[in-house]
Amino acid sequence: MENTKFLLDEDEIPRKWYNIQADLPTPLDPPINPATKEPVKASDLEPIFPVELIKQEVSTERWIPIPEEVLDVYRLWRPTPLYRAVKLEKALKTPARIYFKWEGVSPPGSHKPNTAVAQAYYNMKQGVARLATETGAGQWGSSLAFATCLFDLDCTIYMVRVSYEQKPYRRILMETWGAECIPSPSNRTQFGKKMLEADPECPGSLGIAISEAIEDAATHEDAKYSLGSVLNHVLLHQTIVGLECKKQFEMADDYPDVIFGCVGGGSNFSGACFPFVADKLSGEKPELRAVACEPKACPTLTKGPYTYDHGDTAKLTPLLKMYTLGHEFVPPPIHAGGLRYHGDAPLLCKLVKDGFVEAAAYHQNEVFEAAVLFARTEGFVVAPETAHCVKAAIDEALRCKKTGEEKVILFANSGHGHFDLAAYDAYLTGKLIDYEYPAELVKQALAKLPK
Ligand SMILES: *Cc1c(COP(=O)(O)O)cnc(C)c1O
Repeated sequence: MENTKFLLDEDEIPRKWYNIQADLPTPLDPPINPATKEPVKASDLEPIFPVELIKQEVSTERWIPIPEEVLDVYRLWRPTPLYRAVKLEKALKTPARIYFKWEGVSPPGSHKPNTAVAQAYYNMKQGVARLATETGAGQWGSSLAFATCLFDLDCTIYMVRVSYEQKPYRRILMETWGAECIPSPSNRTQFGKKMLEADPECPGSLGIAISEAIEDAATHEDAKYSLGSVLNHVLLHQTIVGLECKKQFEMADDYPDVIFGCVGGGSNFSGACFPFVADKLSGEKPELRAVACEPKACPTLTKGPYTYDHGDTAKLTPLLKMYTLGHEFVPPPIHAGGLRYHGDAPLLCKLVKDGFVEAAAYHQNEVFEAAVLFARTEGFVVAPETAHCVKAAIDEALRCKKTGEEKVILFANSGHGHFDLAAYDAYLTGKLIDYEYPAELVKQALAKLPK
């Protein structure tokens, strides 16, 4: 009988995060201040981020110790299990071995609290009283609400108005953890007021909500801003996933040939694969493949150019070097809301550019088909975001069936889909539309890139 899961003891939770900046063949291109066109200085960031997170953002130390208080909260749900998907393998009749690392066991149901808890802790240590952030469908907002609640911080969440009105469950979750959830655009900020004056019915967007949260933090002495993906320190905190996973592969006496993960801003995929990609960078595992999976409707890594762009629509953030579809890109309304970002994490983009990480894109119907097969074999109903890498893993396993290869496949199972059942319903009743983002619209959005 094959083992179905590999469990670590609580005292085996890694004590340090892995910083891949220490091992890059060439350094990351710095973020640029759009006003001065010079690299961003630490002091530019201090109004919105605590000093310790700014240090982590630029650090090239390979290992960064995880504070005891953060480990103490991680223990609520970490270490998370590594599963061998034996029933899925049988259903596919593949000689491949399929593993998945399951982050759906955290209280908010995804990998996001791995960074939310660390960010809330460093802000609390610096005496910050309140965090402001944005959320789309509410996955990040609920994770930060959970984390701030445990460290006694107040939390203000600007939630895209359409989601606020149409998706109440994650809002209720945020409020249960004591956060204040405000539909964006709101009259709390100058930027929000401007948007509402222009259009009182404005449905909002992630770009607008980011601008409101940053303005809130920048204009209140006791408040700071928090971001759930993209930045180096966020990817750093997520490496706890891959570090645990490496220990679990030792228990299994195995090692992945290929790692798949879904990519919105790039945090869960990078967190799961960077500790393994380290072995590729060092030359120890030259054959290892890591594949970033994204929607065809928002094909950042597969169709975008690698260039400097703004992180948000209102151009408040520094210019980041990344693959991008342009900061004015408005993706079609696919159900994997967490994968609708126009750019991706600079660290991940650089590894793609340098050939250490690959990318692939999928349509939503094929993605949900894979998620339903997974639910009917392994039981877990995964988030629509995660479903993208389930599809990739199944495709690889079927390829192995043809060739007879006994490849070892790992995918990052980033979260459950219990708040996304309407999306499953749309798939099951044949109402899901496949969007291929037209090359013409990508071209138009790219014309607005900063020079
Ligand atoms: C937010 C989210 C994602 C996408 O964000 P990344 O930063 O790319 O990881 C993926 N899966 C789940 C379950 C999410 O909540």
